[in-house]
Amino acid sequence: MYKFIFQDKLPRRPNRDQEFSQKIHVLATWFFNNIQDGRIPGHRETRQKWGSLWFAGKTKYDIALDSSYKYEQRRNLRGLTMVDKFYEVFSADPGFVIANDFDFDVPIGNDHVLTGTFDLIREVDYQGNKLIQVIDWRTDPYIPRDLVRKRDIQLVTFDYAFRLMFQTKPDQLVYYSFKSGELYPVEPRPPREIQRLISSVNNICSIIENNLYYPRQDWQHNICRWCNYRTPCAHWR
Ligand code: SF4
Repeated sequence: MYKFIFQDKLPRRPNRDQEFSQKIHVLATWFFNNIQDGRIPGHRETRQKWGSLWFAGKTKYDIALDSSYKYEQRRNLRGLTMVDKFYEVFSADPGFVIANDFDFDVPIGNDHVLTGTFDLIREVDYQGNKLIQVIDWRTDPYIPRDLVRKRDIQLVTFDYAFRLMFQTKPDQLVYYSFKSGELYPVEPRPPREIQRLISSVNNICSIIENNLYYPRQDWQHNICRWCNYRTPCAHWR
């Protein structure tokens, strides 16, 4: 991906699936901004917010005259179903927000810097205890198996960044599936997984420094699934 973006300078045009995912993320951020302000948005208000994000900048005539209208409308309805499930889960128990859409920037490996954004960090009551959860908003069209979730590179990255920023482990990493509307908790990752992340970063940086690119498609860890450059990558072999 680095090669396509920075060396070949191919344009970065998010496809409609990526836009869909981004807008679902914006909706979740908006919802928890309201929670931070001390109010739970109404259900109808939350659905309207989704409509305003998905059809942003379009009038009803644009929508009606758009030849892909049915397709767009199907996605709108898919989004609404996700929003309804999200609302049911998080309006009932939003928890206490510690960080919402919060950027991190931490050292890693051989003098490298890892940057990213925590979707949500919150504290919840669980069986009489307080639990710190680091939640990853996921719009994957499928729900990965438990083993795949445990190896999910995004969750390991959040775990690593959390430890460096807060100098402690999170209690839970959580894969929240917008498709199923369920929270899938994952234990903080063992040292070998953290080490694997650090080695991967060192390895990728050395590939970039030495200009040794070749396609390394990685569906298991979800990296390629959301990549803009799958088509040129597939033809590169
Ligand atoms: S499809 Fe996968 S291997 Fe190819 S550029 Fe994208 S992320 Fe990299």
